[in-house]
Amino acid sequence: MSSPLPVISAAERASRFARSALSTALVATLVGALAAASMLHFTRASERGTQAQLDLQAVVTEHHVQDALEWRLISGWLSPTAATSALDQSRTRTAALLDSAGRKGLSPGAHARIREAHVRYARTVDEELRLLTAGDVTAAREYDEAEVDPAFEAAVAGLAAGIREVSDGAERSRLVSDAAFLLAVALFVVTSAVQGRRRLSEVRRKQERRGEERYRALVDQSTDIVVVTDRAGAAQYLSPSAERMLGPRPIDTTGPGMLTVAHPDDRELLAAALRSVDARRGVVVVELRLSDLQHAPAWRTFEVTVQDLSADAAVGGLVLTGHDVTERQQMQREMEHRALHDGLTGLPNRALLADRFEQALRSSHREDAVVGLLLIDLDRFKEINDTLGHHYGDQLLAQVGPRFRGVLRDSDTVARLGGDEFAVLLPGVSGIEAAQEVAQKLQVAMTSPFHVDGVDLDVEASIGVVVSGEHGADATTLMQRADIAMYVAKQRNLRVSTYDPDSDTHTPERLALLGDLRRAIPGGELLLHYQPKVRISTGAVCGAEALVRWQHSERGLIQPDEFIPLAENTGLIGPLTRHVLNLALGQARRWIDQGTPLQIAVNLSARNLLDEHLDQVVAELLTRHGVPARLLTLEVTESAIMTDPVRAQELLHRLAAQGIEIAIDDFGAGYTSLGQLKNLPITELKIDLSYVTTMDIDTSNSLIVRSVIELGHNLGLNAVAEGVESAAILGDLSRYTCDVAQGYYLSRPLPVEDFEEWRAAWPGLPATPKLLAMSGVVAPGVRGGVAEQGPGGVDRQ
Ligand code: C2E
Ligand code: CA
Ligand code: CA
Repeated sequence: MSSPLPVISAAERASRFARSALSTALVATLVGALAAASMLHFTRASERGTQAQLDLQAVVTEHHVQDALEWRLISGWLSPTAATSALDQSRTRTAALLDSAGRKGLSPGAHARIREAHVRYARTVDEELRLLTAGDVTAAREYDEAEVDPAFEAAVAGLAAGIREVSDGAERSRLVSDAAFLLAVALFVVTSAVQGRRRLSEVRRKQERRGEERYRALVDQSTDIVVVTDRAGAAQYLSPSAERMLGPRPIDTTGPGMLTVAHPDDRELLAAALRSVDARRGVVVVELRLSDLQHAPAWRTFEVTVQDLSADAAVGGLVLTGHDVTERQQMQREMEHRALHDGLTGLPNRALLADRFEQALRSSHREDAVVGLLLIDLDRFKEINDTLGHHYGDQLLAQVGPRFRGVLRDSDTVARLGGDEFAVLLPGVSGIEAAQEVAQKLQVAMTSPFHVDGVDLDVEASIGVVVSGEHGADATTLMQRADIAMYVAKQRNLRVSTYDPDSDTHTPERLALLGDLRRAIPGGELLLHYQPKVRISTGAVCGAEALVRWQHSERGLIQPDEFIPLAENTGLIGPLTRHVLNLALGQARRWIDQGTPLQIAVNLSARNLLDEHLDQVVAELLTRHGVPARLLTLEVTESAIMTDPVRAQELLHRLAAQGIEIAIDDFGAGYTSLGQLKNLPITELKIDLSYVTTMDIDTSNSLIVRSVIELGHNLGLNAVAEGVESAAILGDLSRYTCDVAQGYYLSRPLPVEDFEEWRAAWPGLPATPKLLAMSGVVAPGVRGGVAEQGPGGVDRQ
């Protein structure tokens, strides 16, 4: 018997089908729901990533804000107090933004790294602030370069990595979300047979809504504005940010619309861009009026990209995307300004002057015109700065520019070259007389006192004048010659002096040497040779004269006669003397330390005696080296004193009051009156060597030497003879009871090691000078019998 085939009833079949359809639908629904859920999850993750990205971008902005603050601070544009409060605000914002980014998907590791870099940067800024508050601008600048800048770079680099991390994360989430979306769509297509299309569209709507929100978040938070207009500027669409920023009244949808918010000066530019733009992008920079509800209307600079997308049905117009570049432009302008202007006075600096000078010279060639240049140096400015303090000096300098401006044309440039040196460029001057006239006007402008904090300050100026053509064709030559003219004005107390080729000893070769000398001082190429001074009565070495030498890298050893006059003519003598004093006192200190202290004599130039602060400079150097003042002698010539006797006398008194000895050098060569000698605080007369070297053969010179010695003794001064070249001369001097001898017979000036060797071997003079004088022979212990050479042997120069 065969069992009957199982018969499935139609109802059963229907029910099975229904069950299987139902389970498929169920599974599909479940998977679909899962896909939808994960899509929502990843969509959200992607949105959060985008938000985190925005947060981090805002942190970058804050870092730039802090950098800008720090930069303005160090440039002196911002007070430390103002900077601190602004910095604090920015740092608070930074911390909040970082935390927010941390909550929105920035990994804890990256969060910690960024935080740490930020804290490190903040610490360096604080240290710099401390240095600035302490007034140590140089240290602050150095610290800025060495520490603050690298910390800033590190912080920004860390942020860039963080932004990459969150943006990659957001992108991945977006991909997953999109995949989930596709899956969900696919499953919903399947389930739609059972479930209908209702939920799919719901999910879609949701997805779209989310997408839109995501987009809006971006657009809303951005400061970029998007406007769609027609060619006339009538606005057809405004992005929310544009609505917010260009509001409160919406822009006309008819008429020029967009053009009405552009600055009147920029309207034509924008209109032209709208008229001419095609599918390629064009960019214009224009000022737009922002009047968002919270702020008063303000003009901001926008970089507007314009593109014609009328062909795109979805857009159907010109798309204007505006990016606010106000801060960036301000910063750029500020940086440009800073590079070309003097921070203290706001006047053009040397670089800008040079640039304008070149320009003026170029156009003067074309127009056959003359360019004038005035170089101005304030007299007695340093005195104000030193006695009243930098505050007064700075205020005074700041007032000089406006004073000058008052007597100049708009086209003239007043520049500050540094210190108390200014320049005036006269681009269109009729000739030398006109330039001199302007210089006289500047002089007059300086005659009334400057008022600073209730104090009246008097300064005068020395002005050097040059004009193009007559005095040179290029800016460099003219600057140099104006400089020479200015020094002549100063030296001869002329107030205004025009360049005169006859008084210019600056042949190209000497100018080159001058350039070398400028570098030689800081470059350590100057050195001192020492020549002993011997007390004739005892034979003891009682001092040494320090004589400068220049070890030139190419020319070898250069003697002072070749470069001291050059230094004197160019104002370099100040730094040079200071440098020599520093070297000599350093040596004095070493001799003290070695247990063989010695008096050192240093030569001063006439110009040094016009420097009213020389006494302070010397005092400072004595203290620095710990050398007692009585171990220093300053040698000054009569003629130097006669340049400005009152001033010199005052300065010498201040120097002598410190215990420094003063010697009159080359005495007899000038015309110092006895009366003047009496008023000077001197301790020593150095008889000019021209009398001494010839006294054994020229009786009149011998007589002069003898009477100078007597004169000195009558005034209670030490008589010193230099130029002692032979035993015979030494004998004569001894007979005339001269106190001290200096000359080749004893020793030439020697490098320090040789000098020390000479001094150690020095046997002294014979017991009785008279004996020596009578015998006419050399002192005992003379090496190699080179009697005429003297005990000092060969000069190693
Ligand atoms: P000075 O102050 O009259 O220095 C003495 C000069 O006479 C030195 O020349 C020295 O080498 C030389 N002399 C020394 N003994 C004899 C001698 O027995 N016979 C002869 N014929 N000459 C002798 P030097 O070193 O060439 O210096 C020349 C001048 O340069 C100095 O004359 C001084 O006026 C100036 N000078 C040197 N060093 C300095 C310095 O550091 N500062 C300044 N402002 N001037 C300096
Ligand atoms: Ca001397
Ligand atoms: Ca001398």
